[in-house]
Amino acid sequence: MKLYARILEGSGREAANNIQNYGKVRTIDVFGRPTGVPCWNHPEYRAFWNATAEDLFRTYTLDGLQWGAERQGPLMNVILPWNNDAPTCFCEHCLARGRAHGIDTARAKQGFETLYNFAQGMMSGRSKPAEGVFAAFLGILIRFPEILAWEYQYRLSREEVQRGIYRTVKAIKPDAQVGWHVDHQPSSWDIVYRAEMTYAEMAPYSDFIKFIAYHDILGPRIRDWYLARLQRTVLAEMPLAESLDLYYTLFGYDKNKEPKLEDLATTGFSPDYVYRETKRSVASAENRTKIYTGIGFDVPWGNAHVPADPEKVYECVLKAFQAGAAGIVVSREYEEMRVPNLRAVGRAIKEISRAG
Ligand SMILES: [Zn+2]
Repeated sequence: MKLYARILEGSGREAANNIQNYGKVRTIDVFGRPTGVPCWNHPEYRAFWNATAEDLFRTYTLDGLQWGAERQGPLMNVILPWNNDAPTCFCEHCLARGRAHGIDTARAKQGFETLYNFAQGMMSGRSKPAEGVFAAFLGILIRFPEILAWEYQYRLSREEVQRGIYRTVKAIKPDAQVGWHVDHQPSSWDIVYRAEMTYAEMAPYSDFIKFIAYHDILGPRIRDWYLARLQRTVLAEMPLAESLDLYYTLFGYDKNKEPKLEDLATTGFSPDYVYRETKRSVASAENRTKIYTGIGFDVPWGNAHVPADPEKVYECVLKAFQAGAAGIVVSREYEEMRVPNLRAVGRAIKEISRAG
């Protein structure tokens, strides 16, 4: 049996308060305040990850590593907000990076401040602009194209952290498999992330890309984390049912197979979602890296738990391989999974093996 390490980046106020020297690498928001999240562009934060990867592969007999960081970029953080935090990062290293890429850093700051105030204003019930909410949003992007340039640099700096980890591991153990966790938002509802980079572009430093395709929990997540949040900011004019149709169309999912608005909170997505997202990911990788589908079940959701159906789990596994996945990662946490669903995964894998 091969042994892979799996790491998810930590962050938050607790980390900031309890980890030695963490304060040095924190991101700085548009108002100049330090946050609880570290900066991709801080050389010491990058060095920390390289040293961690080195330590892991020098100390243990590992066959691979899956590394992930569940963050969205500064643009989505403003228009699809988890909280009311101001956009980041404007630390000295990010400002230097922006200048090196020909971005007017003062304009980038002013643009993000304008966009943030606009989104926060919408959320606190400010009257809608005369030209319409979405037009006003576009108006800010047109006046401050530096917002998009800044967002792109943020993403590129994340990829550079991954490149550093990849190189470090390969220098120690060339045949180790190093790949990335793409969490649910970037895999299934963050159009900015999708637009920023193809999987083929990530391939030079990726032995595999494991994206999340948790079919059940996607229903309530789309209801509460995508539709509801966008309606509070830039899609304020659009009824949720229309926004859901738009989402299904833009992401290439079949609205006739996926839940209606009123069923999202209690009904999961179909195995067809797993098939379509796997197929898209395989196409995006252009045969230059392996795609592993993250099949998720029994993932908790507050008190309204979506119970996993073993038959559906079985179908999702088959669909992932039919769509061209090189493998699957059974997710999320082992202690959450129930035995009938694990058996369903086993049944599907055995059938696939027998079929050759
Ligand atoms: Zn920074």
